[in-house]
Amino acid sequence: MSQRNQLTYLTDQLNAMREAGTHFGLRVLDDQQAPVCHYDGKEVINLASNNYLGLANHPKLIEAAVEATKTYGAGSGAVRTIAGTMKLHMQLEERIAAFKNVEACVVFQSGFAANAGTVSAILGKEDFILSDELNHASIIDGARLSRAKIKVFRHKDVAHCEELLNEVKDEPGRKLIITDGVFSMDGDIGPVDKLADLAEKYGAIMMVDDAHASGVLGRQGRGSIDHFHQHGRVDIQVGTLSKAIGSLGGYVCGSKDLIDFLYHRARPFLFSTSHPPSVPASCLAAFDILESEPDRMERLWNNTKTFKAMLESAGFDIGGNITPASETPILPIIIGDSAKTAEFSRVLFDAGLMATAITFPTVPQGKARIRTIVTSEHKPETLARAAEILTTSAKKLGVL
Ligand SMILES: *Cc1c(COP(=O)(O)O)cnc(C)c1O
Repeated sequence: MSQRNQLTYLTDQLNAMREAGTHFGLRVLDDQQAPVCHYDGKEVINLASNNYLGLANHPKLIEAAVEATKTYGAGSGAVRTIAGTMKLHMQLEERIAAFKNVEACVVFQSGFAANAGTVSAILGKEDFILSDELNHASIIDGARLSRAKIKVFRHKDVAHCEELLNEVKDEPGRKLIITDGVFSMDGDIGPVDKLADLAEKYGAIMMVDDAHASGVLGRQGRGSIDHFHQHGRVDIQVGTLSKAIGSLGGYVCGSKDLIDFLYHRARPFLFSTSHPPSVPASCLAAFDILESEPDRMERLWNNTKTFKAMLESAGFDIGGNITPASETPILPIIIGDSAKTAEFSRVLFDAGLMATAITFPTVPQGKARIRTIVTSEHKPETLARAAEILTTSAKKLGVL
């Protein structure tokens, strides 16, 4: 039987990935996103989630989600601008704006939508974007959608950013400087303060993506702007509700007019249905917990210090040589070769540790790594066991 198939080129590409050892299947979680849980029926220590503060399983978030669902239903039924704005959506935006000490806030369906929707809405083809080379994919996509000219500066290289700004400073277009607050693959912190200085000097718009800094850096998890004491100096702050906050969504904080403009022009806001009521309800509970349970952040940073010391004493390359040095709970173990890294991850899983291989094109060729992320909820003995599994498996594979 000859069936029409115009997609065989995809099969060819998948086969190429298989040959390169970088093809993967999805690991399926059987229970909750917890420090020890089950994937594909196997119990593993989980060092792969972004559930930094354990809030995804916090009883108060679960209860808030259930209550909101019972009261307001399972879905919102429309996009925000048509009929899908509920009181809970507005309450969450007001809550975040107050927490971040800004005039206003808009919540998007995801951090990805927040970045892509915002950058593409506020800039046009006459404008310029100065972007760190390791910025998140959603920033890159937003930049491309805006059709502005993209100038990429070397990672955290403020002098290079200034050089590029100088090249375009006399052009009529607007300039936007954009950086991640915390870089998701290396765990280092962006030079938010120095870039804000540049923005001021050159009259550029300053934007920070705080996805991995939300709930992790700054007072009670207010993010990198708070960490660097840059309140009032960053025009656009993006954060996520999907990582440390434990639920789903992304937000943009800034002036009232920025937010009002995004209400009118940000395409994911206009053309994609708003969150079900359970989402803003659980996020509101999460912000309560950030303020009422500061011990979670304390445990997160203690665990980070403990686990980093364990990896260092085992002799792993955890960044700082061919890659940036981590300053946060994201601790990459640099292996280099993609296939070897993918194999390492599989060996770790079989030995009882869930830690994801991050390979090209997510990170540059030759800089493949196992990314580990500790949370506040990992017990010290669990981390010790994880380090033991890493060491034994690495030796077995000849990568240590
Ligand atoms: C995860 C991430 C996002 C996307 O956030 P989601 O809420 O998961 O869509 C954006 N930027 C950075 C830097 C991230 O790490």
